[in-house]
Amino acid sequence: MLIFGVLFFFLFAFYFFGIETNNFIKLSQEIASDYETGSSQLHEPLFPIEKPMFVSYMNPYNKQGLTMKIVEDVSRTVYYNDIVFPVPDNKKLLNHIFYRRGNEENSLIYLHQEHFILNNKTYSIYFNFDLTEDRMGIKVLLPGMIAIYLLVVAVIINGGRKGDAKLFSSVSAMASTANRLTVNNLHSERLNVEGTKSELKDLAITINSMLDRIETSYESQKQFVSDASHELRTPIAVIQGYAGLLNRWGTKDESVMHESISAIQSEAKEMQDLVEKLLFLSRHDKKTLKLNKTKFNMCEVVEDMVKETRMVAIRHTINSTKLEDVMVYGDKQSLKQAVRVFIDNAVKYTKDGGSISISCENQNGDCVITVQDTGIGMTRKDLDNIFERFYRSDHVRNEKIGGHGLGLSIAKLIIIKHTGRIKVRSQYTKGSSFIITLPKRDLY
Ligand code: ADP
Repeated sequence: MLIFGVLFFFLFAFYFFGIETNNFIKLSQEIASDYETGSSQLHEPLFPIEKPMFVSYMNPYNKQGLTMKIVEDVSRTVYYNDIVFPVPDNKKLLNHIFYRRGNEENSLIYLHQEHFILNNKTYSIYFNFDLTEDRMGIKVLLPGMIAIYLLVVAVIINGGRKGDAKLFSSVSAMASTANRLTVNNLHSERLNVEGTKSELKDLAITINSMLDRIETSYESQKQFVSDASHELRTPIAVIQGYAGLLNRWGTKDESVMHESISAIQSEAKEMQDLVEKLLFLSRHDKKTLKLNKTKFNMCEVVEDMVKETRMVAIRHTINSTKLEDVMVYGDKQSLKQAVRVFIDNAVKYTKDGGSISISCENQNGDCVITVQDTGIGMTRKDLDNIFERFYRSDHVRNEKIGGHGLGLSIAKLIIIKHTGRIKVRSQYTKGSSFIITLPKRDLY
């Protein structure tokens, strides 16, 4: 503020002096032209020239603060001079403005020079304009200006203080809300955006939407843990049941012993499978999932899987319509794991006697794998949710078809990690088809 005040004062002074010096220049030009046209007379030269004396007659222009000296350029004869105290050169303050130290008071002098021609002789007029009067004018104006400036500063500070108080009250309200936030009240506490100033409102809205995202992510983590525990509870309960049976009868009854051992083995396998899937997802979430990418022919991988499926799914017809060579650059194991999910699902959700078609096409370098079945199909609601973790359609839950609802979410993660995409088409009770595209640009 102080710096601006000083700057303002200097700008004002420059403006003030600027107008005055401009007036002086105009007057100088008028005087020179008056001499040239003969409207003003040149008097006898002053003697001695070396020591100019103060002329007693009046300055013809009678302008207060104006003194001048008229010199013929060739002979340097002085015709007029009422400059009493010439200004030394070394006292220059600014362009044309000089500082003169006097006995009683110091003054600012504006120097200007004009030329005129009279009777074929060139004359120079040296003008000295005393700016002291103007400086005095500024001196008179200065206290008023300072008073007005201080008043403006006071009004601004007062306004600023009120604004700050309002701002700080909003900030401290936000801080106390933020202090109260914990995972337990994450769903109910949000920053109050009403009545806050626009910049703070934007900040509060941004923080609130960040909190929404954190809440969603926290809720899905909670849901994941609860779903995983729920899925693990069933095989553990089965294993406990058979262990109890073994404990009571197993040693005496051989058939009970065999049944219990095979059930425990199958449930343990089921558990291992589930834990593997959970570990995969956890590695992905922690960003520690590593892909070992190489270049390989996807057709060979799909062909092997078709053969394996034919051996396992003996009650289904397995067609491999098109198997074209197509090179991909990716993690062979992971891609195999992903394609296996689609094939296993097709077998699982297609009743005995149904058919499954598997193809691998080279479409302009893109690898397009299609797994189509004539199975139970899916509803609109299923299609919207099948890639969500632990989602299983009501139909497959009611039919007690085994599964944990993790296969497709894992397959999707793998395909996305290879910048691929999955398209699903399905008709409830008629069948489904999954089309996986691995783009060419990711191959090399
Ligand atoms: P899971 O098969 O273990 O339940 P997935 O994530 O592989 O888990 O599949 C999720 C759900 O998507 C399945 O429970 C099922 O409802 C539906 N689904 C997946 N593939 C098919 C398919 N080929 N036909 C019908 N429904 C399917």
